[in-house]
Amino acid sequence: MDYKQYITVVEDWPKEGVRFKDITTLMDNGPAYKSAVDEIVAYAQDKKIDLVVGPEARGFIVGCPVSYALEIGFAPVRKEGKLPREVVKVDYGLEYGKNVLTIHKDSIKPGQRVLITDDLLATGGTIEATIKLVEELGGIVVGCAFLIELTYLNGRDKLDGYDVLTLMEY
Ligand code: IMP
Repeated sequence: MDYKQYITVVEDWPKEGVRFKDITTLMDNGPAYKSAVDEIVAYAQDKKIDLVVGPEARGFIVGCPVSYALEIGFAPVRKEGKLPREVVKVDYGLEYGKNVLTIHKDSIKPGQRVLITDDLLATGGTIEATIKLVEELGGIVVGCAFLIELTYLNGRDKLDGYDVLTLMEY
């Protein structure tokens, strides 16, 4: 399916010069959303995945239906202060300042095979931080799946050695 027809490119948002890829118009379309999820499910099927992990908030939109289809769990990665129990955390740099991501310490058991999902791969900072959290808990990252890859930001350079699926490239 040509998914790009369902993505709305918003000029100068959230700031001037940015061409934001809005996935909500893909989610609005039942067959397109289902087809995108199904492609990720098919990619995951032969990888013997135990758990899906996704960073808030759009990683949930992609990952939760995948975990439902595969009948496996989903573990959320959230910003600091959002998860109620013991967490491990990682700092990563943003264009301005830094961000902290966390995951519940007991959400992954050592040796579990993990698929990470997010809506979009840009510089790769978010996925790199999420991989760190999974690996710190002993999880094995067997795949990373995104709807969109912004190839000009070279996020894949941070994913050397990891298996990556993206459904659209800009
Ligand atoms: P990265 O950490 O630079 O790879 O940025 C990826 C993260 O930023 C993802 O979690 C995305 O949800 C978000 N993001 C960056 N640009 C866009 C965009 O154009 N559309 C939707 N999300 C974006």
